[in-house]
Amino acid sequence: MLALTVADEVRAGLALLSDEELEAEAAGLWSQVSDVGDAEDLARVADTRVEYDRGLPAGVDGIALPHVLVVRPSRQRALVVLRILHELSHYLLGVDRMHTHADVWRLTLALAWPVPRIRRGRPPLEVPAWAVELRALIVAESRMISAA
Ligand SMILES: [Zn+2]
Repeated sequence: MLALTVADEVRAGLALLSDEELEAEAAGLWSQVSDVGDAEDLARVADTRVEYDRGLPAGVDGIALPHVLVVRPSRQRALVVLRILHELSHYLLGVDRMHTHADVWRLTLALAWPVPRIRRGRPPLEVPAWAVELRALIVAESRMISAA
């Protein structure tokens, strides 16, 4: 189950990058799109684009190639958005910056619901409910948003 795998990975202490670095990355990208922007807009401002491919190998839901994010299509928009944000995160973290797959998931979740957007009372992008819950938990634990 994807939700459990991701929650385990993100919370197992395997992350290398700081909250500050990942949040800044997500906020920086979002600052270039409007409030009504979607995953594809984020990809575009990051100088990449989304292509759909049903023929990806079994167990592979996406691949980040240089300037193309290939994702498996789905009738569930929430799953597609999550796949795009995940491949976008692989692309953004690239090969030069030392990181783990936990960092990729943390950035994926931050892109789905960046702190500035939370502060403005805007909803997350349309990702699965478990992803929104995990993101809310991470934000609460990191105290990135004061309780005041
Ligand atoms: Zn991945």
